[in-house]
Amino acid sequence: MMKTLPMNNRFWKPFWVFTVILSPALPLQLYFGGSWYSIFHSYSLGMFFGIVSYVYFFFTLIAASRIRFFDRLYGHDKVLVFHGYMALAALVFSVLHYIFKTMFFKENTVQIVIGATGLILFLLISVLTIFFMVNMPVHRIKIIRKFKNYFVYHFGFDYSLLKLFHNFTALAFLLITVHILGASATLEVTSRIIAVGTCSSLALFTFINHKFLRPVLHYRKSLKVTSVNRLADNIIEIRMNLPQGRAPHKAGQYGYFRFLSPLCGRWEHPFTVSSAPQSKELAITVKKLGNYTEKLPEIKAGTRVIFDGPYGKFTPVQNGNPLLFIAGGIGITPFLSILSHWEKDRIMVPLTLIWSSRYFNEMIHFKFFKRIEEQNDNFRFIPIVTGEMVQGCKGRIDSVFLKDNMNVKKADNISAFICGPEPLLHSASKNLKEIGIRNIYFEKFSY
Ligand SMILES: Cc1cc2nc3c(=O)[nH]c(=O)nc-3n(C[C@H](O)[C@H](O)[C@H](O)COP(=O)(O)OP(=O)(O)OC[C@H]3O[C@@H](n4cnc5c(N)ncnc54)[C@H](O)[C@@H]3O)c2cc1C
Repeated sequence: MMKTLPMNNRFWKPFWVFTVILSPALPLQLYFGGSWYSIFHSYSLGMFFGIVSYVYFFFTLIAASRIRFFDRLYGHDKVLVFHGYMALAALVFSVLHYIFKTMFFKENTVQIVIGATGLILFLLISVLTIFFMVNMPVHRIKIIRKFKNYFVYHFGFDYSLLKLFHNFTALAFLLITVHILGASATLEVTSRIIAVGTCSSLALFTFINHKFLRPVLHYRKSLKVTSVNRLADNIIEIRMNLPQGRAPHKAGQYGYFRFLSPLCGRWEHPFTVSSAPQSKELAITVKKLGNYTEKLPEIKAGTRVIFDGPYGKFTPVQNGNPLLFIAGGIGITPFLSILSHWEKDRIMVPLTLIWSSRYFNEMIHFKFFKRIEEQNDNFRFIPIVTGEMVQGCKGRIDSVFLKDNMNVKKADNISAFICGPEPLLHSASKNLKEIGIRNIYFEKFSY
């Protein structure tokens, strides 16, 4: 069964990014049209930055709302990264707006106080997000890591709590909307009131739909846990029934799972679906990592599960060219789904799976991959164990190793899919580029 790679949508992908980045141009032209000469006055500069910041803030909320259209185009993880950059840009422009406006207006009106409160809230959320919720290169600096861990362990700043606080972004947006609607520059022209009112309602509705209305719909189509199986000391598989009529996932996709059990609170966490799309049950394979995942082994059969998904574009297709899968630890889950989907007789292209794990007992489904290797000449399985000596599982994924194991003369044609911890993604993609492999796709297990 040969399929063609879906063409990267070369037009629509950059089109939406540029449209969003350039979108403040329209309201700026409507506001300044005919009086652009006044732009360098502190009042006008304040307005300029304010308009840009509001438009970017609007898109920040829209991008966070898990809109399927954008997930299909870019993958939800990339949309979230874009959401982060939009938020940062909105923040910078709103601070500039504040600075230039306070040069002009000295007194504090209610409308200014409301705007300033919104800005402070937005600033606070952004700082906490950058520091605790996203993985950035600065977090690799030891002192910063220690400082971060201190807060996490001593003040219980865990990810779910921060995520809850992150939702207050909508409140900040609401305050800023009230500030804009109360501004004399808005009130003097009816079309401005209508434009701001419409955009704000749209952004807030999208947020409410994502946070409150959609979960209600998902609850009505909720799944039920059928079994919880221990695969290793720290790895479990949770199987769930699929209600009739639920759209199947594509192999390699993930979703947000909320287990309705007092053990798990009300939090949702992202996990890749590790079962094949044709499977009658939906399974996830979870490694114990922190507060939430350590409770999952106690989940009982019959527990209801709200599933928001599937999301993501980590779905390779067979178009005749060789494929390389690289997994680090529990990053094997999308490949489990993909290979269970293709099974032994549906692998039609040369396919190499390199799976690096710290301990051999964490190599769940080792036998499953070995069996496919025995049954299909196209498939090669290369296990690597880094934390202990295991015969036949030695190595490091560097460029020499990759050169020895791949046909680098055809590097241009190879598509590589990597899933695992952040350091593996960086080092593997660097090494792949060194040997000439350019088609590299990632799935990160953190944002
Ligand atoms: C797209 C995607 C697919 C994933 N697939 C799998 C999988 O198949 N198997 C598996 O074992 N793990 C998977 N993970 C990772 C899994 O979501 C985290 O290990 C789990 O949420 C950790 O929660 P914790 O409270 O136990 O650990 P903590 O120590 O609280 O969190 C560790 C890290 O997990 C991430 N995280 C925690 N809570 C959330 C949340 N609510 N939303 C988003 N990220 C969060 C953060 O990066 C955090 O720094 C996936 C993650 C993503 C983003």
